[in-house]
Amino acid sequence: MRGALGGPRVLLRRLREVMAEPVSAQDRLDKIVVLIAANMVAEVCSVYVLRVDGTLELYATEGLNRSAVHLTVMRIDEGLVGTVAREAEPISLSNAQAHPAFSYRPETGEEIYHSFLGVPILRAGNTLGVLVVQNRAHRSYTEEEIEALQTTAMVLAEIIASGELTAMALPGAEPAARRPLHLKGLALSEGIGLGHVVLHEPRIEVTKVIADDLPAELKRLDGAVDTLRASIDTMLADEGVARVGEHREILEAYRMFAHDRGWINRMREAVMTGLTAEGAVERVQSDTRARMLRMTDPYLRERMHDLDDLANRLLRQLTGRTAGSDHDRLPDNAIIVARNMSPAALLDYDRTRIRGLVLEEGAATSHLTIVARALGISAVGHMENVVGQVDAGDAVIVDGVSGEVHIRPPADVENAYADKVRFRAKRLERYAALRDVPTVTKDGTPIELHLNAGLLVDLPHIEDTGATGIGLFRTELQFMIASAFPRTNEQLKLYRSVLDAAGERPVVFRTLDIGGDKVLPYMRAIEEENPALGWRAIRLGLDRPGLLRSQIRALLRAATGRELRLIFPMVSAVEEYDRAHHIVERELTHLRRHGHGLPERVLVGVMLEVPALLFQLDLLFSRVDFASVGSNDLVQFLYAADRGNSRVADRFDPLAPAALRALKTIIDKAAEYGKPVTLCGELASRPLEALALAAIGYRRLSVSPASYGPVKAMLLELDLPAATAFVEPFLGIRGEVASLRPQLAAFAEKAGLPL
Ligand code: PEP
Ligand code: MG
Repeated sequence: MRGALGGPRVLLRRLREVMAEPVSAQDRLDKIVVLIAANMVAEVCSVYVLRVDGTLELYATEGLNRSAVHLTVMRIDEGLVGTVAREAEPISLSNAQAHPAFSYRPETGEEIYHSFLGVPILRAGNTLGVLVVQNRAHRSYTEEEIEALQTTAMVLAEIIASGELTAMALPGAEPAARRPLHLKGLALSEGIGLGHVVLHEPRIEVTKVIADDLPAELKRLDGAVDTLRASIDTMLADEGVARVGEHREILEAYRMFAHDRGWINRMREAVMTGLTAEGAVERVQSDTRARMLRMTDPYLRERMHDLDDLANRLLRQLTGRTAGSDHDRLPDNAIIVARNMSPAALLDYDRTRIRGLVLEEGAATSHLTIVARALGISAVGHMENVVGQVDAGDAVIVDGVSGEVHIRPPADVENAYADKVRFRAKRLERYAALRDVPTVTKDGTPIELHLNAGLLVDLPHIEDTGATGIGLFRTELQFMIASAFPRTNEQLKLYRSVLDAAGERPVVFRTLDIGGDKVLPYMRAIEEENPALGWRAIRLGLDRPGLLRSQIRALLRAATGRELRLIFPMVSAVEEYDRAHHIVERELTHLRRHGHGLPERVLVGVMLEVPALLFQLDLLFSRVDFASVGSNDLVQFLYAADRGNSRVADRFDPLAPAALRALKTIIDKAAEYGKPVTLCGELASRPLEALALAAIGYRRLSVSPASYGPVKAMLLELDLPAATAFVEPFLGIRGEVASLRPQLAAFAEKAGLPL
């Protein structure tokens, strides 16, 4: 068997020279295939580029008929080249023509070549093309040769991804690398955002992939791996995370991978082919990503993500880049693209510049979604592998209404969206015109329509929408955006501004609801196996009453001379409510004793979001002044489906009879006791769901600002008795449907309701 001439390192050095030459893209490719063929002692070397139409076009060849260049085009489900592209794995054959996938193209004259080695040209796990060498003789390519060709393919990936080939292509047949993409996911937050990609975790650009000094590169790689291992050990030894919980499991997995010989060896072998340490990490990372994208087992995918994350850590180590996003270089119209992020991370950005949010994960009632809605940022989730398919600065359109995302959109799509934005603006104008129209259904039933809020930026919405009041003020948002615990005075100031902005309108302040996915960056993280079921909200408030007391004091003082409505989150037992209520009484006594002014009236209520409360409603309604249904949590606990987990969050429909019966039980019992109940979960923010809620008896809804107009417009057209009569049979024992959604949608359509 023949060995490669001069080895892969010589080849890479020569390729680097060609990359620097001021020649046309075609000349560059032509030179590269000649170099590779000579170096690999192959008679043929060809480059196929994946096109926007999903086919593979021969872009350059040494050895095959030159006249076939740009003429030979293959489908991705055709031939050996198609298989390499599809599977994103190398194929090495000593008798290619005997392979069932072999497809003969007479114009290329390839019938005389028997051996075939094809490797995918990958970037961030995505196939951009295929690089092939062929030999006349029946021969087996060695592992080293396969490895070397994969390394060479990285250089070609750079050329294709740079876009320099696009100019030579016919319209509709451009390389796929920079093609427009139309993705469909889950609409999370209404609105349409046009802008440019900002990667929440920017890809680490490896600028130097070809090594000058191999032993030195191996040493750098080994050093970075050692540092990585040490940093994981330090994190694991850290008392805060060393207990139990998800975090620890991730770190344990990291430690296992960081010691995995297979992974380390693959990177060392890649260095041996002539790459720098970072070039080698990137090569192996790209292969891992390609495998990850083809994996269906969610557990294995998760582990691949861990490995990907570890590779990023190594890259940061090697390139000296620190973690974190490009907050300082945010364009005016930023579309943030991320796998997932915490609500606090979103709030860290300059929100005036954010036009949209695109997530690989994400769920409709997660707190990140709620914050995005509060900020009026259109958002779409469930966008598989979107991070790997965009580059910072790419043009992108986020359609938070339909759940679509257009990446690098063609001009006609952009124009269509410009029209859509104008159309939406008109609709918003129509909603604005409804501002002073009382929210009364067609049959004359008044509905109180309140707003959900939590930040200063929300306050102008009260005036804009003409809302009845603030049905839920999430006080934790102020805590989440702060860099340290807000002092009582700062809290007081915010609460006062809220009351000032609301004027005569009622405001319901909810005491701190932290824990679960609402993490305070400055508070020592308590690692829990199940944070959503853990030490959170009122539980934390009662166990550490200092925090709750100071917040209640700030609220009472902010409401001097006015009415204060106060509500406790995540109450599970009447006794918890009693204890929290007692703290309010004590604080009132304290203020009175110290001669402070007092609120004119204090109303105390409870959030209904833990199913156990449904079986304590008599006790509860006989003591509370009012209640509010937190359907986001109530539905998550009813169905035991994590609201923030994209795999299960939307598995159960809150419009299923089971959920609606639970909600109806609450409102019926409240009516018996004459206690007002609002529904403030995201359920109320969607017109079809709001229709169901009104139909089962809810007369007070609290919605996100962007939903105010659409929900109000629906209610104004609603014949409530007809809706109630329509829904009722489905809630009885014969109501055997999985969900009322299709039936309600048909009802709404027939009635001409704007949805
Ligand atoms: C809810 O659970 O429905 C709710 C309104 O509270 P949050 O979404 O803040 O948990
Ligand atoms: Mg809740």
